[in-house]
Amino acid sequence: MIPIAKPFLAEEEAQAAYDTILTGWITQGPKVQAFEAQFATYTGAKYAVAVSNCTTALHLAMIVAGIGKDDEVICPSMSYIATANAITYVGAVPVFAEVQRGTYNLDPVDAEQKITSKTKAILLVHQIGLPADIDAFTTLCNRYNLQLIEDAACAAGSSYKGKRIGSHSSLVCFSFHPRKVISTGDGGMITTSDENLYNRLKLLRQHGMSVNDRVRHESTQLIFEDHIEIGYNYRMTDIQAAVGIEQLKKLDWIVTERRKIAYAYNEAFKDIDCISLPFESDGYFCNYQSYCIYLQPGCHIKRNDLMQQLLDKKIATRRGVMNAHRETAYRELYRNASLPVSENLQDNSIMLPLFVPMSKEEIDYVIDTFLSLLSAQKNLIAPIEEPAIT
Ligand SMILES: *Cc1c(COP(=O)(O)O)cnc(C)c1O
Repeated sequence: MIPIAKPFLAEEEAQAAYDTILTGWITQGPKVQAFEAQFATYTGAKYAVAVSNCTTALHLAMIVAGIGKDDEVICPSMSYIATANAITYVGAVPVFAEVQRGTYNLDPVDAEQKITSKTKAILLVHQIGLPADIDAFTTLCNRYNLQLIEDAACAAGSSYKGKRIGSHSSLVCFSFHPRKVISTGDGGMITTSDENLYNRLKLLRQHGMSVNDRVRHESTQLIFEDHIEIGYNYRMTDIQAAVGIEQLKKLDWIVTERRKIAYAYNEAFKDIDCISLPFESDGYFCNYQSYCIYLQPGCHIKRNDLMQQLLDKKIATRRGVMNAHRETAYRELYRNASLPVSENLQDNSIMLPLFVPMSKEEIDYVIDTFLSLLSAQKNLIAPIEEPAIT
């Protein structure tokens, strides 16, 4: 079976976790601090705050951005549901705008039309690793006095106009879930270059505690902490951070390898006329967290049939990115939502396996099988023999 994804973890990560356990300090401590410093340097942001996952990162971003009850935040419905949930957690209302065909990213024209007097922020998602048009949304936010918050869950290692994602706006949230490009099991990070936001984020992720437990632990003087506001326990552990430090060292290499596989797919499928392949415009650098193909209306094979037939050939795929407004948790509230592009992309897109390391045999097998299924009825290509995949 060829899986859709798998994390790239090796001896270095295992050793780092092992070593950290034996130090005796396993929750948020020196490893988290080092990981944060290295992640900030990597992205080009001044600060980074590690948290338990990207959903908690987004929740804290909403709080420090001052988003609260009955405020409106514009975001895509076509995203992982955590995007909308983070807005809902603070009592605000997700207002769903359309995405663009081709990029799967938020459409600035539709987003602008959704702005009302209650709109406080735009939560911009870099869907499956392809940066959204940050400049267009920065301009929009400046014009309407809105906050820009980036959901960069999938976008570690991606760049926009020559700068890594994480350095463009004041609140950028990343995920280290195993489905993303680098992983710490679960884990998240917020980058910012604003010192006030940085300090508040650190406070909120640890119960609002004025003195963190490490400072208290190392102090030779008696100190008592105060809890100066109601915070959360959204800490990352040092075991996770130790793994993250090793993963971060490999991130650029992983992205390079992922891009090679994406190129191989692009090259192999470029002449199939009923599908749309992912593409990067000038200034956009994608980490290919996922490789997503859109099946145009004229395609002779239906998306679900294609998925089943690939599964029959032992190739795992996923459907296009979900639409939050179609999930049970949101359906009733958004029954009047009109998001035809987002729905159409969800229903007619397919994600192919892409992971590191993926052998040449595996890549070729996916390519040949995909080609044979898409041209089966046209009989352009003779049936291929199945190579053994171990
Ligand atoms: C994965 C993902 C999240 C959630 O990340 P977790 O670390 O699993 O909480 C949020 N937004 C988007 C766009 C994602 O892809």
